[in-house]
Amino acid sequence: MITKNLIKSLEEIGFTYVEGATAEKGHAYAIYGGYLVSVYESAGNKVAYFNFKFPDSEENDIKKYNMSETFSNELNEYSVSDYTLSEDGMRVFCTGNIPLFLKLIDRCVSLLIENEIRDSEYCSKCGNKFGSRKPKKVTYDKENHIMCEHCALETVEEISNRAAEDASDEKKGNVGLAIICSTLLSLVGASLYFVLYYFLSPAMSESGLNEVRYIFCVVGFVVSMLAYYGYKFFSKKAGPCAYITVAVNSLLFTAIGQYIGIVFEFIAKNGFNLSALSNKHFWLVHLRNTIPADVSDLFTDYSAIFWKLLIISLMFAAVGAAIFLLSLHDKSAQKKETVEIETITIK
Ligand SMILES: [Zn+2]
Repeated sequence: MITKNLIKSLEEIGFTYVEGATAEKGHAYAIYGGYLVSVYESAGNKVAYFNFKFPDSEENDIKKYNMSETFSNELNEYSVSDYTLSEDGMRVFCTGNIPLFLKLIDRCVSLLIENEIRDSEYCSKCGNKFGSRKPKKVTYDKENHIMCEHCALETVEEISNRAAEDASDEKKGNVGLAIICSTLLSLVGASLYFVLYYFLSPAMSESGLNEVRYIFCVVGFVVSMLAYYGYKFFSKKAGPCAYITVAVNSLLFTAIGQYIGIVFEFIAKNGFNLSALSNKHFWLVHLRNTIPADVSDLFTDYSAIFWKLLIISLMFAAVGAAIFLLSLHDKSAQKKETVEIETITIK
């Protein structure tokens, strides 16, 4: 993501804005002060990435030390929250406003020049000078890399190989098994309600802790987690099948679990034998209020508490399912990151 104001300010100093596949993937770039710089925003930080070849060597270790010494004294001045210097360049993260961020970019450029870091005349991968040949700009993960043709093609191949591996990993999944596993684990989740209500709840209410049943509703979240991981174990592919299976299993088995739980709690608390379950009233009393209105003051309405607990449980299950499915969606969206290659001219 990158805000309109930042784009405007960057364009004034010669940057080009590139729209991404989604708003989040937009970035700006320029050959600025002799370096290929990419700018984007990430988690509340403005990020500037300076791409250059910076191999591990004794000479560079000294430069690295010098730069981090200079920089660490100025971190506060420029609101720098983090910075990295690695083999393929330098990244600075800034929490300050736009004017301060632009000043920081200038400061970085002067720091790179002072330390005689190879600029955009050189390939950022093999370190060779371009000379009369035109360099390639290779873009992935919102960041641009300047390379010679050979290195650019090699990088594109590496990235597309990786993407193909990821895709075949996705294909390897078995949707049928994923649905079965998700369903079975959801059932395990539902049976947690039984355990809690049948074994724990009677003991708790003897010690006057009846309200503990509201805490049991958290099991709805556990059911959604089991539904999700059960599915993911056999298929990592985000799609309608994953969304429907996880959402339906989360809600359905939470509802079943909550219902079974409350029926068995009734049996346990009232000292009935399990064979009483063959009487359909044990199953129905929680679902509807059968007490005539004129004597309702004298009796407890069993169904009211069930519906209340059911709604809370379902809310936990729905929130859980939404969180897990969004993370699955995000992960698969990230994988679809593409690599682009373009020939550029350095003025
Ligand atoms: Zn190269």
